Amino acid sequence: MSDSTPANLSIQDGIVVTLDYVLRVDGEIVDQSSDNGAIEFLQGYGQIIPGLERSLYGMVVGESKQVTVSAADGYGEIDEEDYAEVPRSEFPDEIPLEAGVELQMRDQDGDIFDATIAEVREETVLLNFNHPLAGKELEFSVTVLKLREAAQEELDHGHSHSGHEHDDEDED
Ligand code: ZN
Repeated sequence: MSDSTPANLSIQDGIVVTLDYVLRVDGEIVDQSSDNGAIEFLQGYGQIIPGLERSLYGMVVGESKQVTVSAADGYGEIDEEDYAEVPRSEFPDEIPLEAGVELQMRDQDGDIFDATIAEVREETVLLNFNHPLAGKELEFSVTVLKLREAAQEELDHGHSHSGHEHDDEDED
């Protein structure tokens, strides 16, 4: 497979995009590809948040853009129901019980949920299961690094195969 990008390729459904990004919330950088690597995804298949995906159509390699994504088109509004009160005694000693601490909870089925401690009460801890960026406006600065046509197998799977990590758990 060649790394070269045909000059006429622009972002549309079925194109695999490699994107450099900086994500700011309230002016602070919360995530960036210089820390975590550029993201690669299949455009049009919901692999990235909808508000960002929608704004990328037509971009070409080397092009940069500022994109503001509302909470609703990002990680969603905060769901006031998505909280749970858990007895303090259920937390292992090594977990610091302080507001803002992020942890993972396992339910009876063994499924793992990310949670943030919202409040520490006398006998209980209030856990917030909303995504940490729920309710936040997201400011992205993106640059298109690479574009290529997706392989048929990627279109069938609905996600990109970057070559070094095809150990998808969601294969069907
Ligand atoms: Zn796959």
